[in-house]
Parts: sequence; structure tokens; C-alpha cells
Amino acid sequence: MSDPLLSVDDLKVQFNTDTGVVKAVDGISFDVHRGETVCIVGESGSGKSVTAESITRLIPQPPGKIAGGSIEFDGMELTDMPTKELLDLRGERIAHVFQNPQGALNPVYTIGHQIAETLHLHRDVSKKEGRNRAIDLLDRVGIPDATKRVDEYPHEFSGGMKQRAVIAMALAADPDLLIADEPTTALDVSIQAQILDLLRDLQEEFDMSVIFVTHDLGVVAEIADRVVVMYAGKVMERGDVFDLFEDPGHPYTRALLNCRPGQAGDRTVIEGSLPSAMNPPDGCRFNPRCSHAVEECRTGEQPPMYERQSADQAVSCVHYGDGFDPAVIHEDGETGTVATDGGVEQ
Ligand code: SF4
Repeated sequence: MSDPLLSVDDLKVQFNTDTGVVKAVDGISFDVHRGETVCIVGESGSGKSVTAESITRLIPQPPGKIAGGSIEFDGMELTDMPTKELLDLRGERIAHVFQNPQGALNPVYTIGHQIAETLHLHRDVSKKEGRNRAIDLLDRVGIPDATKRVDEYPHEFSGGMKQRAVIAMALAADPDLLIADEPTTALDVSIQAQILDLLRDLQEEFDMSVIFVTHDLGVVAEIADRVVVMYAGKVMERGDVFDLFEDPGHPYTRALLNCRPGQAGDRTVIEGSLPSAMNPPDGCRFNPRCSHAVEECRTGEQPPMYERQSADQAVSCVHYGDGFDPAVIHEDGETGTVATDGGVEQ
């Protein structure tokens, strides 16, 4: 395989608070290759959004701080890149789309002006070229009658159309990497499906890499090539989407998959809650909630990522190490208990 476009290695991100240091991301590693979609999935508070925002140093510093590790993008180290260079890169080669399109749009400027402005920041184009590009992008993201709507203001767009406009802004400078953080969560289900289809089409058309942050495994199944499963600031499992859905290796991944709505058979909930990011448990972070935990899970550090022989997957679980047998995870009952309320509890 070619060199990755983005390589995150042993990244640590912390927040200093009055009551102590929150280790939001604590030594995670993953790669993103050109033209692929990597989904980062996990519960709220798992560190997935902090990871996404740390890539272009969008986390507020202070109180946030990249405390260690490396983020290499196309051969350039981003963690210590001078701010001016990073600002040039952000929006031009790496673009972000966030959950709330309202917050990304300025209510006093037209949609067209805001898309063209992104372009003017990074390219030497005339006003007319900027406007034509805005119309073209609105057209490509599926805004009908783009020539007319380019002159409208955000309040004249519906929620789904606003998110399409934000995606058009993100694409204005033809980025190599699009980082989309829960971009469909605030939208209703039918619009969500349209936006996912749109992102998939645009990825092919623009030959982009995409990092897609979500808590929704249904979305992962729709859009991912590879998956990174995060829990309490650590990566629990990563691998090819088909392998991971076919035969999840980590007890946490298995439990997440069993929580999905529409599951055949009994759905489960994962008992307990995420551990404190200030005082995480020794050993595996998942051990207080794991029905497969053994003594070795409760001491030392998070287990290393063990590569599975049978599939393109790596799993942070002692049962994949020397002297253990991962079959216990696959043969025993799953982590969690049967859901009685019909809802997802994570
Ligand atoms: S390392 Fe132990 S606690 Fe963690 S997932 Fe594996 S069995 Fe469970």
C-alpha cells in the first residue's frame, strides 16, 4: 500500500481543568490513505471529536494541549507547524464540516459570498470566478436553482440545505482531506441519507480522503472503508469495515454492534458508563464493563494493538496476546445485558 496521506501516531491530547488534567486522547494511532473514508466511532466522551479537531489544532489551546505524539499530513508534521502555515493548510488541503451548519454560516452574508470567500482565501481568483465556482459547487451538492440561491442568506435555506452549503464551502478549495464530525446528526433521517449519499459521491468525484466521526454504526456501515473504534481516549479496535462488521474482535466493538437498532435477536445495552478521563482505570479502559475481563486486564497499561491473523484488524485486548485464546470472546456470551426498553443505552 502507498504511504498514508495522514498518519496519527501515539497522539495525546489533554485539557487542564481546575480539578485536574483530562486525558481526552491518550496515545492513539491510525492512518488515512488517499481516497479512503475512515470512520472514527465511539460513545460521547470517547475522544473522537477531540481527535478530529486536533488534526488541524482546532482545539482551544489553552486549556487544551497536544501533549505528545505526531500528526503527519503528506509528509508534514502538523503538531508543531507554525500557525501561519497551518492556517494556509486548513481550509485549503484539509477542510472540516461540523455537526451544526448554523454555526458554520454567517447570517449577514449570502451563501455565495461565504463559499467564494473560502476560495479567495486560498486561490488568486477574480470576483466573477469566485461567484461562478460558488454556483457550480451549490449545483454539485444538490441545491436546486443554484444561480438564484447563491444570492440567498442562510436563513432562507432549510437545515439540510444549510449543511449542503457548508459542504460546498468545505469543498471550495478542493481539499485532499475532509474531516466531517457528526455532519448528519442534527438532520432528520431522510436528509441524513441524502447527505451521506452526497458525501460518498463527492469523495469519488473529488478523489478526497475523508475522516468521518460518528456514534452511529449504521452510518459507519454506509460510508466507511476502514473503522477506528475509540473508547475512553484509546483505540480499542481498527480495521477494514467488512471484516469488523463480519467478525468484530474487541468485546467493546461486539457490544456496540449488539446495541444497534434493528438487530436480529436480542439487543443489548452496555452496562455502566465511560470511566473518568482524569482517573481512568489501570489496565484496559474497558475492564469495568467487560464480561471477559481477567486479572491481566486490571493492571498496567492498555493492552497493545494485536494484529489478527485472519483479517485486516488490530485489537487492543489481552486475549489476543501470547498465552491467551481469543476464542473465549467469540464463544462466550456477549458483554452487556438484554435491552428491555427498546432503546439504545451506551
Ligand atoms: S483487555 Fe480485558 S477488559 Fe479489555 S476488552 Fe479484553 S478482555 Fe475485556
